[in-house]
Amino acid sequence: MTASIAVVGSLNMDLVIRSPRIPQPGETILGGELHTVPGGKGANQAVAAARLGARVSMIGRVGQDAFAAPLLENLAADGIDHAFVLQDGESATGVALIVVDDNGENSIVVSSGANMRLCPADVEAAAPAIAAADLLILQLEVPLETVIRSAELARAHGVKVVLNPAPAQPLPARLLSMVDVLVPNESEAALLTGLPASTQAEAEEAVGALLGSGVGTVILTLGERGALPARQGEMQVVPAFEVKPVDTTAAGDAFVAGLAVALAEGRELYDAVRWGNAAGGLAATKLGAQTSLPTRQALERLLSSGSR
Ligand code: ADP
Repeated sequence: MTASIAVVGSLNMDLVIRSPRIPQPGETILGGELHTVPGGKGANQAVAAARLGARVSMIGRVGQDAFAAPLLENLAADGIDHAFVLQDGESATGVALIVVDDNGENSIVVSSGANMRLCPADVEAAAPAIAAADLLILQLEVPLETVIRSAELARAHGVKVVLNPAPAQPLPARLLSMVDVLVPNESEAALLTGLPASTQAEAEEAVGALLGSGVGTVILTLGERGALPARQGEMQVVPAFEVKPVDTTAAGDAFVAGLAVALAEGRELYDAVRWGNAAGGLAATKLGAQTSLPTRQALERLLSSGSR
């Protein structure tokens, strides 16, 4: 059975220029060619879930400028339904201006634009898409009140809620109580709890604090170490797959999608975390964000390779 996933979140056009170094204030540098690539955590996770075999519906906002059509076409190319991605005549499409230097360091300015105008009424209008899904994926690149309303609609229709709290910000207890699975990385977990989460003992304590705040299940991603899923009375690291990392951009987005597709297909928690690790690991082996997101075939090959 094909799993059905709804994503409420951001769509950005990433404008990327390689430069010998990051410019100083007031400085102009001649850089390389401009790369125009679709991004935004919402769209990345939607594309990742679609490549892994889910039927995906995206809910969001873009502008009516030159970046809008390519972003919608990009979703359509992966078979994603974008009937509920609105085109806002009063705001620009979200853009990330990214400069990458020769050492791979980057400097980024994000203009959220239309993403921050996605309002609760927009997701109410998209309620049929949420109700028809097995699972809803949320992040924090759209207004918090919209994230909360989305979670409420999902709960009202018995749809599972997965929240990737990125970029991290303090979250109201009411939202956390509506989240079935919270998926932070280490720095997000630290910000959410006010506790450090670098060592194994610290990570376990931070995850314990998050469980105490009303979330059913917490899965802390640990980069090359894998992930730490936890629910009441149960907490155990699931190791990462052994891969040759090239660029970990979007590894977190791929993890969320792999986990979500597996859960939507009815797999149990630890199996779903393996799916997340496989998707995240594969994304780390290729350059770029959406270009590195794996297909289901690649994921199944890694899962059955026994390298974990
Ligand atoms: P983020 O990119 O959001 O900070 P992480 O770095 O924790 O997230 O990576 C997300 C997931 O991607 C990890 O839980 C793991 O499954 C996978 N991953 C990331 N880096 C590697 C790596 N070097 N080797 C294997 N898997 C990795």
